[in-house]
Amino acid sequence: MIPTLINDSRKIVIKIGSNTLAKEDGTINRDFMSGFAAQCAGLIKKGKQIVLVSSGAQVAGLSTLDRWVRKRDIHYRQALCAIGQVELMNSWRTAFSESNLRIGQLLLTKDDFLDGHRTLNIRNTLFTLVDEGVVPIINENDSVAFDEIRIGDNDNLSALTAILWDADLLILFSDVDGVFDKNPKEFRDAKLIEKVTDMSELRNSISIGTANAFGSGGINTKLEAGEKVAAYGIPMILANGAHQDVLEALANGSQSGTVFLLS
Ligand code: GLU
Repeated sequence: MIPTLINDSRKIVIKIGSNTLAKEDGTINRDFMSGFAAQCAGLIKKGKQIVLVSSGAQVAGLSTLDRWVRKRDIHYRQALCAIGQVELMNSWRTAFSESNLRIGQLLLTKDDFLDGHRTLNIRNTLFTLVDEGVVPIINENDSVAFDEIRIGDNDNLSALTAILWDADLLILFSDVDGVFDKNPKEFRDAKLIEKVTDMSELRNSISIGTANAFGSGGINTKLEAGEKVAAYGIPMILANGAHQDVLEALANGSQSGTVFLLS
């Protein structure tokens, strides 16, 4: 099912979580980024269009300025994101240039999705970048967004992006293999749910844990993202981004994940 979904989709939004981008020591995994960019280049050569939603500003900031590690104050965290976002995009720029691709950056907040003029401008920018063969990379504008104007997690941000761009498919890469009936980090007999068609049935049948090491999300925000895009008929795949050649492995069926095909 996943290979067919990818094969049949032209416009794909891919979200990469902080846990996928960062190594265990908290530094940015540049090898992963190079490999990922090369796989995106492969898909683009096949006629696909890709928009990336990349987390990692905060974790990149921390690995650049580790003396701020213990500072929980909002101003420090926003300042960290200002520092980390540059590092993050610098790493993406290097990774994509190895595959002869250019990138463009969009930093968005919740307000941007609520205002008709702004959404029109975002759409136009995305369409122009993609038409010109540039890969747009989106993150939340963490240095200006706070509390009620914050989306807060990139799962929901990528869902809003997929809707705004009329994507055919949303892929969330995380550090989990998909949705399980129990938390796979706690229970060894947890079973992967390969296809979700009914969200309320799913919510009743699984136990939802808390967010993981670096990311803001956790499984709940992934389910929210699935629900958001489903309302617009966009399917979503949740898969583990840590595996080698993840995009290719999903496309050729050698890696599994959870597909959300909600009616
Ligand atoms: N925007 C945050 C960052 O780049 C990540 C949000 C998330 O983890 O979903 O650090």
